[in-house]
Amino acid sequence: MVQLFCADIAHVVADPFRDDHALQIIENGALAVADDGVILACDRRDTVRAAYPDAPETAFSGWLLPGMVDGHIHFPQTFATAAHGTHLLDWLERSIFPAEAAYADTPFAARAAATFVDQLLRSGTTTALVFGSQFPDAARALFRSASQAGLQLLSGLTLMDRGAPDVLLHDVARAEQLSRTLIEEVQGQARLHYALTPRFALSCSAEMMQLCGELARAYDGLYIQTHINENHEEITATADAFPAAKHYLDVYDRFGLLGPRTVLAHNIHACDAQLQRLQQSQSAVCHCPASNFYLGSGIFSLQRHLDHGVPVLVGTDIGAGTNFGVLEELASVYKAQQMQRLSLNAAQLLFLGTLAGARALHLDDRIGNFAVGKHADFVVVDAADDPGLSLRLSFCESREDALFTQLNLARPHHVRATYTLGRRYQPLGTKSY
Ligand SMILES: [Zn+2]
Repeated sequence: MVQLFCADIAHVVADPFRDDHALQIIENGALAVADDGVILACDRRDTVRAAYPDAPETAFSGWLLPGMVDGHIHFPQTFATAAHGTHLLDWLERSIFPAEAAYADTPFAARAAATFVDQLLRSGTTTALVFGSQFPDAARALFRSASQAGLQLLSGLTLMDRGAPDVLLHDVARAEQLSRTLIEEVQGQARLHYALTPRFALSCSAEMMQLCGELARAYDGLYIQTHINENHEEITATADAFPAAKHYLDVYDRFGLLGPRTVLAHNIHACDAQLQRLQQSQSAVCHCPASNFYLGSGIFSLQRHLDHGVPVLVGTDIGAGTNFGVLEELASVYKAQQMQRLSLNAAQLLFLGTLAGARALHLDDRIGNFAVGKHADFVVVDAADDPGLSLRLSFCESREDALFTQLNLARPHHVRATYTLGRRYQPLGTKSY
């Protein structure tokens, strides 16, 4: 049965950093969605209604936007947001490794997986590239929860063989065996994708990174995710650990870890040579401003990445980040770039939260906007129950201005509904632990 979803629609149909007409706003618009969750039409409501005269419809006030794409977030840090630490390495040791060790308890991890997926979907995120747990049953629980709830998930076992408590480490042989098992379980499942996840160079020996390169070549369609150039102490320690490498990126490059399915989080402190190599290899970089502010890591230059042609997407980086949803993260993206005199407009903000992520993950044939044939993944953002914001929006002179203001002031309670493949997500109640 075809269904119609009606509201003011906004989506991005091209790259707004190159095309001034990339943003499409359809006032009083409608999506027509087939039974299998695929978009049949996106147009003015009367036009769509004429094509599907008998279809039942659901109407919303507010905006209907594509589901957000989170390019970097940690599942085992669900309960570690706003933990105290001075900077990255101290914070990891003091607050994060103990939190991640708790996922050895499989029933706890299974409940945490349901909570994590719930937090993403109720914040309007419908696709996420996620650092899984170091514990295979916990990593497996995350895939299961995502599949049940409708979240499109790219994830994998977090791999570390040094620099953390023993309980979080795997030797290379065990890492290989666990990774192969999980890859084979996940491959072929709808809307699930496996991502090899060497935490970062300081957590992984040369042999562990060698293994990741070999696995990436052995299986089709795997992603690789890791961290890079987040913090000065981390960069110095990495240079000391890999003295033969030209720079931080070269550590990963030597083991065959760069390529169009690789996403590197942060890249705040990068020289031009690294940006050039990222572009050549078409590796993507994930911008996580709330995390960068929280840990005092620095300010990411979007302009330098754009100038070098490096694909960029946005991530929340929970637990260093402080927003569970990319929708709310966009306000931090705006401020981080304002600090460097790059003033993003509504089209560019919406692009970074949706189509840019879809493109960087090579999923733009399925998600990112409302082109016919894509998955009906969308979020309804509505300030009707927020009197202050409703009043503020009433002073906007155009729908584009209103979208810009809404994107900068979005809060989780503005998410009225999240749909994946045309089905409404039903948020969980509070779980006890
Ligand atoms: Zn991270």
